[in-house]
Order: sequence, then C-alpha cells, then structure tokens
Amino acid sequence: MEYDYDVAIIGAGAAGMSAAVYSGRSGNKTVLFDKDTPGGQTLLSPAIENYVGFKKITGPELCDLMADHAREYCDLKELEEVLEIERLEENGEPSGFRLKTDKGEYVVGVLILAMGAHHKHLGVPGEKELSGKGVSSCATCDGYFFKGKKAVMVGGGNSAALEAIFLHGIGVETEIIHRRDQLRAEAAYVKQIQEAGIKIHWNAQVKEIHGNGTVQGVQVVDTKTGEERKLDVDAVFIAIGIEPSTRLAKSLGVTLRDDGYITADPMTMETNVPRVYACGDVLGGARQIATGVGQGCIAALQANKPLGKAYPF
Ligand code: NAP
Repeated sequence: MEYDYDVAIIGAGAAGMSAAVYSGRSGNKTVLFDKDTPGGQTLLSPAIENYVGFKKITGPELCDLMADHAREYCDLKELEEVLEIERLEENGEPSGFRLKTDKGEYVVGVLILAMGAHHKHLGVPGEKELSGKGVSSCATCDGYFFKGKKAVMVGGGNSAALEAIFLHGIGVETEIIHRRDQLRAEAAYVKQIQEAGIKIHWNAQVKEIHGNGTVQGVQVVDTKTGEERKLDVDAVFIAIGIEPSTRLAKSLGVTLRDDGYITADPMTMETNVPRVYACGDVLGGARQIATGVGQGCIAALQANKPLGKAYPF
C-alpha cells in the first residue's frame, strides 16, 4: 500500500514529540499532528524542575526545544486537528489508516496515539485568568513555589488527597475544600490527611478565585447553608478529575480501562487494534514528562514492526 506517511502521531505533547524523533530516526516518513501549538500539558507549567538534564526550565521553553527537535525528523502539523480515522485493509489484513483532518486527508501505515489528557476545570471566575499565577492542576509541578505559603486543594478524590499530603509534606500550608461531607479518597489517604492535621472545609464549593496578577483568595460557598466566606490563600490547586482525550481511540475500537484511559501493553505500547500504539497521558499512570517521553520512544521503535522493519535493530 502507498502511504503519504509511514507513521502518524496524534498529539504533540512530550510523548508525541519523543515518538516523532524516534520514528524519523528509524527512517520512517513521519507526521505529527496537534490541534493546538505543540507542548500539551507541559506548555502550561511555569517551571519544570524534575525533567533530568534541566535543573529549571519553563514549560514553554522546554516545549520549544522539543518541537524544534521533532521538526528535524517529522512534518509537524500544528493547528491541524485529526477529525476522523478510517481503518484500511489489503487482502483482508489491516494495512493502514486514512486520516481526515480539518485541512486534508492522509493515508498512513501506523498510528501512535498521544492525545494526552486534560484536567477538569471548576469553571468559576478567576480560574482561567489566574492559571499559572497561583491556580494549578499539578501540585507535583508547582507545589514548591508555595513552600511556606497558604494553599487550598479543591477535590475529594485520590488525586486531591495525595496532592494535599504532598503539599503539606513540602511545607505548604494546605487546606482541602470538598463539596461533600465525605472524601472519595481511599481510607489510607484519609488517615494520612487526619494524621497530618490537614483541615477540610466540608460541603464547600469554590465560587470564585480572587487575585490581582496572582491568587489572593477564594470565595467559598457552603452547599448546605448557602453561607459564603473568603479564604486568604496564595494558591489554589484543583484536582477534581482528569479526562483523557480518547474520542479518536474509541472510534478506532481501542480498548479503554474502566477509568477511561487507553489500555496498552506496557512493554510495547501496542493497543488491541493492529498498527495502533499509544503513549503519554492518554495512558494515565504517572503522567510525567519523563514517562511520556519514554513511552513515546518505545511506541515509535515498536511501530517499525508492522512496517516490516526489524526491531531491535
Ligand atoms: P476523582 O476520583 O474523579 O475525584 C474527583 C473529586 O473531585 C471528587 O471528590 C469529586 O467530588 C470532586 N469534584 C468533581 N467535580 C467537581 C466540581 N465541579 N467541583 C468540586 N468538586 C468536584 O478524580 P481523581 O482524584 O483525579 O482520580 C481519578 C482516578 O484516578 C480515580 O479513579 C482515582 O481513584 C484514581 N487515582 C488513584 C490514585 C491511587 O493512588 N490509588 C491516585 C490518584 C488517582 P465528589 O466526591 O462529590 O464526586
């Protein structure tokens, strides 16, 4: 079968860009699509201090470096959204895919899904405006900036619990705001929260995030009484769930786990659909730049197999 590209990668976050480098360097004609500018979740981080080799770098700086690197080895098509994917067969065997984007159509041999995941938002005034200025969805990434300062963690699930414990542990004065009177988090985390003495504002919903350039406080409403109060804080961490971007995966028949993330073989990044691999946040798990980059590498190297190339080389 004639391909426009041997390999198509969907999603130019850290995982997708890593896959693009390895795919191009394997000699495969590679295309990398992103409906936005390259970077994914990494782009949102004001500073990255845990990606080895970079003691401190801003998200946009790292994304620029990664995109420059990826461009050496692939056609990086930014602001081009993949809308539909059709599975192709030759002699009754899976042979590739036809991708329809908002700009064109392409026939490709192998797909690497790296669409990532997006954090759910509260949708309250101040949240968007103060994002990266005290509002964060990543305590691991941004917690250190608020050491010795006050923060609230919004949410009552495992992520909120774990991240509140993490923030407390690194010296951020942390309180939890939860909309019900019971945490959804596992008992072991609830115990750690109690032991750490982390205060929980029960039946509380954030109505607005205040600030002038940076976060200064949150307006909280009691869901039972309707009473409002303002908490003076320097940071608002939001952990109310994450949604993987799996629309295209579902349309292809890729198996998802109960929590909505894609299932892939951890050694090969292969999904249940022949010629389809996945990497990065769309798989859930640790959701770090380092893990995404590693998974992207594996997916791209493994993608050589259906293209008839030997791996390992
Ligand atoms: P989650 O389990 O869906 O919890 C989200 C929390 O946010 C819930 O407490 C929910 O409240 C609250 N919430 C949702 N929408 C809200 C809104 N609009 N305003 C205020 N609060 C809102 O999400 P998660 O904690 O990110 O975890 C995602 C999945 O990963 C879960 O399956 C979780 O168990 C898993 N996980 C596991 C671990 C682990 O170590 N085992 C660690 C992290 C995550 P309600 O409780 O009222 O619904």
